[in-house]
Amino acid sequence: MKVITYGNPVLRKKAKSIKSIDKDIVNLTDEMFKIMHTNVPQGIGLAAPQVGISIALFVYELDDERGVLINPKILEKKGKEIGEEGCLSVPGIFGPVARAEEIVVTALNLKGKKITINAKGLKARVIQHEIDHLKGILFTDYIDDISKLEIEEGYELPDKLVERFKNQ
Ligand SMILES: [Zn+2]
Repeated sequence: MKVITYGNPVLRKKAKSIKSIDKDIVNLTDEMFKIMHTNVPQGIGLAAPQVGISIALFVYELDDERGVLINPKILEKKGKEIGEEGCLSVPGIFGPVARAEEIVVTALNLKGKKITINAKGLKARVIQHEIDHLKGILFTDYIDDISKLEIEEGYELPDKLVERFKNQ
């Protein structure tokens, strides 16, 4: 299992909601945490479509907590904040994205229990970024000008992304 990158059509599909949380789902999330840790650079969030599986699930890991959210839905959004984002599926590329500063999200956890999370700051940003993946949206979709993208040394913009800006 590996992370798929910009241009792979799976990243553009709407992820299917998950009907039953079985052993395969638990194993998948274990594997996703592993990938997130071993990937260079490391990520703080990873959605199932990014490993080629188009189902509504993502994992995240911040300094003090990790979580798995299944069939997540944003109930409330408050405020607006621009912050730099990157994505394991668009490696080495970063850009500014406006997100809600605070959100309320409902989802199932790995035990199938319905949970509600109040998140703000970086956690709110990660969750919004990952939920976008489940809708086939990538952070670069919010960038209106190619010059706003930062490209880390040793990386280049994916061809498909360059094309998108040309077609604007
Ligand atoms: Zn991403």
